[in-house]
Amino acid sequence: MTSPDPFSASYTEARDRFLAAATSSGAWVKSHTNPHAKGPNGEVLTMETAWFGPDDAGTVLLNSCGVHGAEGYAGSAAQLHWMENDGPGSLPPHVGVMLLHAVNPFGFAWGLRGTENNVDLNRNWLDFDQPLPENALYDKVHPLLCPKRVDDKAVSRLLREGAQLISKHGQWALEDAISRGQYTHPDGFHFGGHQQEWSIQTLQKIITEDLKSAKQVGFMDWHTGPVGDGDLIFLCFSPPRSPAFQQAERWWGRAALAKDHVDALWGSKRPSRRGIIFWGVEQALGPDRTCAGAVIEFRSSLPKMNAADALRISMLERWLRFEGGLDAPEAQTYLAEIREDYAPTRASFRTNVINNSTRAYAQAISGLASWQYADAAD
Ligand SMILES: [Zn+2]
Repeated sequence: MTSPDPFSASYTEARDRFLAAATSSGAWVKSHTNPHAKGPNGEVLTMETAWFGPDDAGTVLLNSCGVHGAEGYAGSAAQLHWMENDGPGSLPPHVGVMLLHAVNPFGFAWGLRGTENNVDLNRNWLDFDQPLPENALYDKVHPLLCPKRVDDKAVSRLLREGAQLISKHGQWALEDAISRGQYTHPDGFHFGGHQQEWSIQTLQKIITEDLKSAKQVGFMDWHTGPVGDGDLIFLCFSPPRSPAFQQAERWWGRAALAKDHVDALWGSKRPSRRGIIFWGVEQALGPDRTCAGAVIEFRSSLPKMNAADALRISMLERWLRFEGGLDAPEAQTYLAEIREDYAPTRASFRTNVINNSTRAYAQAISGLASWQYADAAD
């Protein structure tokens, strides 16, 4: 059965449709409940896994959505479309697929990017007993990003004082300081946390318990955000020219992963992040198993006028969490603006998401099938 539109209107609808499609496709399904938070209507918040293919498949595609909460709608739609259009029925022999739905169900349900602790999960997969990454320049920009009101005055201060910081430190250094992750301001941008979040602990558990048989793992982590209309950016975090990077190139094409191409689509050189889930998954799998793949962005937002405009969505989320509250009079307008940036309603975006994700799944799955034999022949 094919849905008229795989895009859901809410987290609960997305989860229910995911569960229904997975169950009717014969998947093994598990739900993991977040014990620390609820949704805006008191909903229980869960991360789901659905396993397709042989129980003991040695070659597995692991595909997640909703690491950044509200970004989850596009990935959820892609997963639903794959399930409802015979994705599971057309798997090559010995290849399994594990879909992970709503890695950050709190953010998904509330329409926010971070977790219930304002943590960016893609900065949180670290050993918190070790010294945390430093980000001294973030201290300087933090006050500019955190106004009491997100108004013209705050914007002109951000542009004016931001320009001074850029002239002193350089454009990329400032962008990097804002987005690479910081561990000193729990009410700030891209906060990496002071401990591993429930989502990360749950992913760790899923990999340990449910991916035991997997020897080769392909990883696709759906996100949205950068300016565009549903076209894909493949962010591969394997070392350049490594066997894993070459594997990803084989699936999605060398041009799609080329650094200059990716940087151009992204809008600048990428930030120097730590604690990302891609590396966490690799680490959890251990040295005896291979992992290749990418964080894949569906470009989603409309063009931005300037730096303040580009930071506005994150400023609104932060204001809702720490200044005005999620019940403020502005909340519904701000949440709608955030939603439209991460999960646009325009038809062209939705069509492109489905077409591009369908192709990316097919490429990865057929690549995984031949990877399996290539490694077996070594
Ligand atoms: Zn994201």
